[in-house]
Amino acid sequence: MIELLWLLVPIAVVLGWWAARCGTLSHLTNTSFKLSPDYFKGLNYLLNEEPDKAIDVFIKLLDVNSDTVETHLALGTFFRRRGEVNRAIRLHQNLIARPALNSQQRSLALLELGQDYRQAGLLDRAENLFQELLVSKTHQTLALHQLLDIYQQEQDWEQAIQIAKKLATVASRPMNTVIAQYYCEQAEYFYRQKQFPVVVQALKQALEIDHHCVRASLLEGQYALENSQIEQAIIAFQRVEQQDPDYLAEAIKPLQTCYQTSGQQEAFTHYLHQVLERYGGITPMLVLAKIIKQQEGDKPATDFIFKYMNKYPSVLGLNYLLDLALSTAENVTREHLLLLKDIITQLLKNKPAYKCNHCGFTARKLHWQCPSCQQWSTLKPIQWVNGEFKSDD
Ligand SMILES: [Zn+2]
Repeated sequence: MIELLWLLVPIAVVLGWWAARCGTLSHLTNTSFKLSPDYFKGLNYLLNEEPDKAIDVFIKLLDVNSDTVETHLALGTFFRRRGEVNRAIRLHQNLIARPALNSQQRSLALLELGQDYRQAGLLDRAENLFQELLVSKTHQTLALHQLLDIYQQEQDWEQAIQIAKKLATVASRPMNTVIAQYYCEQAEYFYRQKQFPVVVQALKQALEIDHHCVRASLLEGQYALENSQIEQAIIAFQRVEQQDPDYLAEAIKPLQTCYQTSGQQEAFTHYLHQVLERYGGITPMLVLAKIIKQQEGDKPATDFIFKYMNKYPSVLGLNYLLDLALSTAENVTREHLLLLKDIITQLLKNKPAYKCNHCGFTARKLHWQCPSCQQWSTLKPIQWVNGEFKSDD
């Protein structure tokens, strides 16, 4: 309260000076100005730590006319930024109720009040105001951004899609990647509701609007696999390679399940070799090494990893090499290897697997919307950054 007081006093002084200068006070004389008794009443309230009453006085004092609207707006924004949302709402509501406002000023006040409501968690009211701005075609881009945030917060993906499409037109902003993510959100929702035909429809729409939507392919593959549509799942998972090879690591494990379920182990091995040749990467290398170990034994698997690690050194590769060495080592050698293994396990422990390209946020699991900067499709598997696992990981 004391803190607010100290902030309000200078505002009161400025208001007094300003009101006097502009002649908005009723007690202005021709030769010199006098401050209204109300002004002192307001100051008194402030000094007695009654900011709400003080605001009442100042609102009354500052006659709303074309000259004082800016001051009201500034004061309202000031309160909102300080987290005094209820005071901001009162100020802006008072402003909107005045008939003196021209349409431009009214729109500006609506935009501010909408933001107050949003901050106060009154999303329905905020939504109505921003929709009103859209209808009047004023401050459209700002209103669309606000609406988009609201619909994302409410997880109303259908509305989010419509608003994002409008934003793309009004602000000429590329929104396809984000819209595809909204369709994926819809698909996941429908899947949880067991509305399978619309799941397929939503994923199709995601891919139509963004051919590079990896998430849509992964979801399509996952749902097909769960419904034992193996061939369809393989097609979907393999599509990831063309869409964005950075995410290949996400498709390889489920692809292995697909190929194993349908007894096509050889085709999978062939696929892994191709992928390794084209992009490198630790996940296909490890999966392939494990297959070689199973089929041909430890020695060929070790040779394979050594050959690969010469080209692309990585801690995960080293870790697996140790596993292979441990399975045959004895006595002292084994002890030393175990020690090494411990060190590497410690190094790998709690290492993030994903990193946001936009803000640098790191995570253990894949988020399609960055929890830190709220951007969509910016988190990528770390081991695929620049085609290889980073040395500091
Ligand atoms: Zn981020």
